Amino acid sequence: MFESLSERLGGVFDRLTKQGALSADDVKTALREVRVALLEADVSLPVAQQFVKSVEGKATGASVTKSVTPGQQVVKIVHDELIAMLAGEGPADTLKIDNPPAPILMVGLQGSGKTTTTAKLAKRLKDREGKRVLMASLDTNRPAAMEQLQILGTQIGVDTLPIIKGETAVQIAKRAKQQATLGGYDVYMLDTAGRLHIDEVLMDEVQAVRDVANPRETLLVVDGLTGQDAVNVATEFDEKVGVTGVVLTRMDGDGRGGAALSMRAVTGKPIRFVGLGEKMDALETFEAERVAGRILG
Ligand code: GDP
Repeated sequence: MFESLSERLGGVFDRLTKQGALSADDVKTALREVRVALLEADVSLPVAQQFVKSVEGKATGASVTKSVTPGQQVVKIVHDELIAMLAGEGPADTLKIDNPPAPILMVGLQGSGKTTTTAKLAKRLKDREGKRVLMASLDTNRPAAMEQLQILGTQIGVDTLPIIKGETAVQIAKRAKQQATLGGYDVYMLDTAGRLHIDEVLMDEVQAVRDVANPRETLLVVDGLTGQDAVNVATEFDEKVGVTGVVLTRMDGDGRGGAALSMRAVTGKPIRFVGLGEKMDALETFEAERVAGRILG
């Protein structure tokens, strides 16, 4: 479907004479291809430009090892730089959930996969870390979404806060906190309401819930196929509610995952997990290497 970066650069360098080191001209030619490859992978333009600039300095004058072609050498430099940019400090999947009950706030737009991810993460914490988790849906506008979380909870064997009609999101958050404390839960997860677009009402509500819950982690769930849009969503949510990590969903799809690089570069927030399907086990720790390979094609 896409021409891989290695193929692109192979073509470029076949036309150039082999030299011991990469000349400034070689690098410039190659980086044009890199930029196109990044844009095709849905990396936003400013981020692609910034990336190319940072690689340019590293690649110019770099010696070409005998065993590889100049094209392969540039791909390696680009690959290493991508990993450096994508990877955060410390293990990405270590959530701050000591001191029970630890609140985790799940935020994001409607349809991003927030409810599914809440349940997947709850299951992961239960199965892998033996945590007792309580989940609560705060989506008072969409009773179906509240029921969906309940159904998933039953399916994975994780408790959900009983639904009481007519409560506000803040009231539900308070009740979740109370029940988590009284019930001896390790973690309680608040699945906030999403909207199709970011608006003030949504942000006000998420802020009010955040103030009540004082979350240990605020995870932003973003559809990994949304590319450029993902950056705007991440920036807005981070400015308004303070995000501690990102979960990229639908990474099982055809997308090249450029959103990951853009979000990381623009917000500096670590990507913690990736969603790889609709099933409850389809959540994996984010691995920079895998996504870098995918962006390069
Ligand atoms: P919400 O509105 O943000 O809560 O979104 P939902 O959790 O209801 O998810 C919307 C749809 O996306 C559902 O059909 C999910 O099964 C699906 N979904 C969620 N995460 C993933 C994922 O990682 N991969 C795929 N293929 N589908 C997903």
